[in-house]
Amino acid sequence: ATPTSIMAGSGRAAELGILFKGGEHLEQTRYINTVVIDKTGTITNGNPELTDVYVTEGMSERLFLSFLGSIERKSEHPIAQAIVQGIRKRGIELRDVRQFETIPGYGVKGIVNQKEVIVGTRQLMEQYKMNISTVVPLMEQLESKGKTAILASVGGQLAGVVAVADTVKESSKKAIERLQKMKLEVIMITGDNTRAAQAIAKQVGISQIIAEVLPEEKAAEVKKLQKMGKKVAMVGDGINDAPALAVADIGIAMGTGTDIAMEAADITLIRGDLNSIADAISISYKTMRNIK
Ligand code: ADP
Ligand code: MG
Repeated sequence: ATPTSIMAGSGRAAELGILFKGGEHLEQTRYINTVVIDKTGTITNGNPELTDVYVTEGMSERLFLSFLGSIERKSEHPIAQAIVQGIRKRGIELRDVRQFETIPGYGVKGIVNQKEVIVGTRQLMEQYKMNISTVVPLMEQLESKGKTAILASVGGQLAGVVAVADTVKESSKKAIERLQKMKLEVIMITGDNTRAAQAIAKQVGISQIIAEVLPEEKAAEVKKLQKMGKKVAMVGDGINDAPALAVADIGIAMGTGTDIAMEAADITLIRGDLNSIADAISISYKTMRNIK
């Protein structure tokens, strides 16, 4: 590879908002045959909204939302921010929280008004031996629409279910179609529930998903694909994605995401538009073709 053609390729890419960290990444990108894409904030806009609230019998909705919002105010998770915003809009007052804890990949907990409040996935509730059978059909119904359903207990009793919904970026479907036309294998990866993940994947034409992946397991999933002989590009925006971006053959960060993801990646997509993935790969093909 001549330095001149690499520079020309990098320049063309930069005009499209694609920043390669080094010339070697521009050269290597053409070998990619598998693209693993994070869901939240990468395929979707990552600004979920609170859409549904259900309480169990005997629980008042306002009281429930007050417990829930108080706990979520302590969390930085986008889901928590959506929940707090939705609750504040309803004019509900939030309370102090003691012993707040984040359980990565599962949810949060703490003590509000001397009651233990636990918020998160069904797996989290199961860990605390909570009986959730009455709300499983409701959760499945929400998830089949692509919403993320979240359970909350107050004082050891299941108290309610809320759902948040994120929207798919307008550009995602077309961008994924382009990758598939280039004969690349496209896989969606997420910590979210399988059913919700499938609903989002369907909207953008992805048939392969890896869901319910714990934050620290994304990198291991990428390694598994590499062991199968695949050349993997990982695309993500979050702190959770950074280890996977680092182990992938090519790590691609969204410029709209966290600094940690950009630091771990080989390419940054300034526009946060997945069409830039196909652009980056074709620039790599073209650059290397000019060299030979
Ligand atoms: P992702 O952001 O890709 O969904 P995470 O690993 O951060 O993945 O979270 C996995 C799941 O854990 C979420 O989909 C949600 O159901 C639950 N969860 C995590 N944090 C919270 C929180 N603060 N409040 C409620 N649920 C949460
Ligand atoms: Mg994300």
